[in-house]
Amino acid sequence: MPVLTAGAGLHETLALLTSQLRPDANHKEDMVFLKDVFSERSLGYLMKIHEKLRQYERQSPIPVLHSASSLAEDVAEELQSGPMSTEEKELVHLLMSPHLKAVLSVHDTVAQKNFDPVLPPLPDDFEDELEEESVKIVRLVKNKEPLGATIRRDEASGAVIVARVMRGGAADRSGLVHIGDELREVNGVSVIHKRPDEISQLLSQSQGSITLKIIPAIKEEGRLKESKVYMRALFDYIPLEDKATPCQEAGLPFKRGDILQVVSQDDATWWQAKRVGDSNLRAGLIPSKQFQERSLTLCLPPLFPACLPTEDCDCEGYFNGQYIAGLRRSFRLSRKDRQGSTGEGSDPGDPEFLTYEDVSRYQQRPNERPRLVVLIGSLGARINELKQRVIAENPHRYAVAVPHTTRPKKPHEKDGVEYHFVTKQQFDADVLNNKFIEHGEYKENQYGTSIEAIRSVQAKNKMCIVDVQPEALKRLRTAEFKPYVIFVKPRVPESRRRRSPGVPDEDLQEMRQSAIQIDQQYGHLVDRVLIKEDSASACAELRGILERLEQESFWVPISWVRT
Ligand code: 5GP
Repeated sequence: MPVLTAGAGLHETLALLTSQLRPDANHKEDMVFLKDVFSERSLGYLMKIHEKLRQYERQSPIPVLHSASSLAEDVAEELQSGPMSTEEKELVHLLMSPHLKAVLSVHDTVAQKNFDPVLPPLPDDFEDELEEESVKIVRLVKNKEPLGATIRRDEASGAVIVARVMRGGAADRSGLVHIGDELREVNGVSVIHKRPDEISQLLSQSQGSITLKIIPAIKEEGRLKESKVYMRALFDYIPLEDKATPCQEAGLPFKRGDILQVVSQDDATWWQAKRVGDSNLRAGLIPSKQFQERSLTLCLPPLFPACLPTEDCDCEGYFNGQYIAGLRRSFRLSRKDRQGSTGEGSDPGDPEFLTYEDVSRYQQRPNERPRLVVLIGSLGARINELKQRVIAENPHRYAVAVPHTTRPKKPHEKDGVEYHFVTKQQFDADVLNNKFIEHGEYKENQYGTSIEAIRSVQAKNKMCIVDVQPEALKRLRTAEFKPYVIFVKPRVPESRRRRSPGVPDEDLQEMRQSAIQIDQQYGHLVDRVLIKEDSASACAELRGILERLEQESFWVPISWVRT
């Protein structure tokens, strides 16, 4: 067995460890998983970077100069002051590029050890007040961002209380502001007799650092724990149009299909979440699953918020990705709004009750069966043709599920190749026994695709591609098949001038309508929309999707990966 030398680095150790992993009958899957993790290129790179950094650390490097940025600026200025050769022009171009400037700026920050923001000294009179009451003076740095907390006025005492601390926001990151804290002053200005919107204004005015005088809540909440709950949104949410939210500007807008990391479910009505892939660290408010179900049932506005106090914050609708000038008006539900209507709504027991779906990341492992690929298409998409074309290009990797039919076999056909040829009685019995994912009639003959036909393709370790009517989706969404659903829509030109030659306007309208209808009814079950420009480009795009499906990880319902 190979032995590590004393000076072996992490990288070497990892390589040796990977080579020593032996398949073990009892933990085969774990071993494959471990091997995959250890062989990950990115992990290897990280190890190398780590070792390089360690190496430099040992050399204890010291900066040659503390202000490389100004040196670069001086050089560029000097060069530009006279006629320049080609090389000089290139150098100026390099020195002025934003990337190099950013690198030099980082260098200078490190060289000057200029890491912490400089806070102004505390005013002297705080000392006396600290003795009088158990107040806490909190000074935190807001990096051109909102405080990340909402406030409300306590009905009984009139005190201004911290209602929520948004995960990942400035207040949360400081660890110094907690739910229930009473806010007394903002930057030395008393908030006791101020309206919530005036307080929000005070908060939003302080850009660099902000000083809060706070009476801590009796029971200080522990530091908020990071949650690993991920959900796919099954509806669009626009907080600025939501009359029910306690604070519209603290809301997180999202679209159907977005993946949300729900970081807090402490409040049963308003959860806190971030959009996966967003660079924004601060969480926003979203309606909880239960609350959204209720809202749908009652056809908004719901009854809940009438009894909830409203809250204010200094977020200014920040989450919409656009700056909304001015501060939010202090929102209060009017009596008329509060009463709401109780029109007909969907039934919460209805499986179509679209709120959120718990999801998890899933990557197909080499020893696992390929995922089922399901094509659905709107009018004019010709998904069967697309499917056949992709399979014909690569019949060793992709295959169709062989359908059943009651029509007679043609001389060149073989049973089990083009079709499974069955009698009408057999076909009817199979329909009754729920064997088909879909079936239909064509020229008085029956046709249908069975679940077994899909299984037998997957058993050969091939990726099975089916094209179905969207109604079949529910039947196929199982942990066994882990379907990846692609909705193919033909590109329909919008303007009359650019309409497709030879296609009547009514047909184009029907195509548009068909796409809208499928999107409305089944869009939440779709993983990917493929806009078909022409057959060749759609085929190339589909090929790309299929390749990635085997190599990358995707969000799937959590029940598909939990065993
Ligand atoms: P053919 O008999 O010429 O092979 O197929 C005629 C038609 O049967 C096809 O164009 C298609 O519309 C329909 N068909 C073929 N396979 C299936 C299937 O699995 N399900 C359904 N519903 N129709 C099928």
